[in-house]
Amino acid sequence: MLRLDGATVRFGKRAALDSVDLEVADHEIVCVLGPSGSGKSTLLRVVAGLQPADAGRVLLDGRDQRGVPVHRRGVGLMFQDHQLFPQRDVGGNVAFGLRMRGAGKAEQTRRVAELLELVGLPGAGRRAVSTLSGGEQQRVALARALAPQPKLLMLDEPLGQLDRGLRERLVVELRQLFGRLGTTVLAVTHDQGEAFALADRVVVMRDGRIAQTGTPLEVWQRPASEFVARFLGFDN
Ligand code: ATP
Ligand code: MG
Repeated sequence: MLRLDGATVRFGKRAALDSVDLEVADHEIVCVLGPSGSGKSTLLRVVAGLQPADAGRVLLDGRDQRGVPVHRRGVGLMFQDHQLFPQRDVGGNVAFGLRMRGAGKAEQTRRVAELLELVGLPGAGRRAVSTLSGGEQQRVALARALAPQPKLLMLDEPLGQLDRGLRERLVVELRQLFGRLGTTVLAVTHDQGEAFALADRVVVMRDGRIAQTGTPLEVWQRPASEFVARFLGFDN
């Protein structure tokens, strides 16, 4: 599905992404962990085509994505600064990608209702975005990203502002949903519990490089370095 070959992004002298090699298989759910500034969002941006690679390659289904614009990559995105369209109501936001794909009115209505139910906002379709709390807006952004059922879905802290109970419920439901739809997922999270519950594989980043990758159990049982062990909290 996805392959990065030596992908590098530099800002001035510093590499935000430093020769990263990574493969994500079809239907795999990969969670990216790492400290603030380690390059997690940059990794997603370079795959999405929002950030050009200064060196290396990004391949989707074997095709080099150099020069391919965001909307032609067939990837779904939900970023940290999830901006909803303020002039559209909740339903209009969620339906956005469905409309772009040419879905009919009946399908849009049905899918919007399903997705709002999933994110715990049933019946909120007519509400103005400005009346939602931060966490509610985040859930609408998640529903919007899920709506077009992209083959590769990239999520940057999708549940960041939500309370623990809701996160735990959503993680379980999302995992089931991704399995059912066969969605390949690359998700950034700060929350290890979330990564371990959601992911087939985790990637731990440090200073723009991959410090370790493996199944949640492997990384947890055998951290590859002191950095990873510390990051996972084994020093306390
Ligand atoms: P966080 O957990 O805080 O979201 P992150 O792992 O997502 O962090 P990135 O946003 O990928 O980190 O940033 C990696 C590094 O690249 C940081 O040092 C950041 O300051 C730098 N950086 C990112 N975008 C830019 C930019 N447009 N211009 C300059 N530096 C940037
Ligand atoms: Mg980030």
